Amino acid sequence: MTDLLLNLADAVAPSRANGPGARAVLWAQGCSLQCRGCHNPQTWGPAPRRICTVHAAASWVRSFRGLRGVTLSGGEPFEQALGFATLCRALRAEGADIVAFSGFTREEIEGDVRPHARALLAEVDLLIDGRYEAELAARLPLRGSSNQRLHFLTNRIRPDEIEGLPAVEWIGKGERARVTGFVLRALGPRTAEGRA
Ligand code: SF4
Repeated sequence: MTDLLLNLADAVAPSRANGPGARAVLWAQGCSLQCRGCHNPQTWGPAPRRICTVHAAASWVRSFRGLRGVTLSGGEPFEQALGFATLCRALRAEGADIVAFSGFTREEIEGDVRPHARALLAEVDLLIDGRYEAELAARLPLRGSSNQRLHFLTNRIRPDEIEGLPAVEWIGKGERARVTGFVLRALGPRTAEGRA
């Protein structure tokens, strides 16, 4: 576990707009899908941005008291599937639930569209799948466009628990302050950074 590396765009906690309860959110750096209208194009490039070991990421998550789970966003978590699978397996064994956003469909992931994709899927409790389609932009819980789907893969997260989540939130103060969530749903198109 300690030798695997993750390339992250960012990481914040606690978040309440990226799944049920208080969560740690890790944004993968690197996404080959390049959806038109993506709100996070700065996460597309595969070059190293914030490199950390899986062990360090797990320790960072554990440093927050009272977190319910972890959310993987991006960028594309399934393009770093082995590292995230290892991280999620360790945290899930300690009781965390896992939410993952992916531009790949569930069917693509189940077909191992990228190395170890199915191994990561096995550690996910709620998958939100599908490319962002700008012409299908919608105001739906945890989704930016209406083609994207919610897959409740275990009974750790219930459908009713994602109703009423804040669409966007501010986390932190000063230079470290940032907006997370679904900007389209809250503010209309392209007014701030956020998950497409
Ligand atoms: S919307 Fe998601 S899958 Fe699409 S380019 Fe942006 S980060 Fe990648």
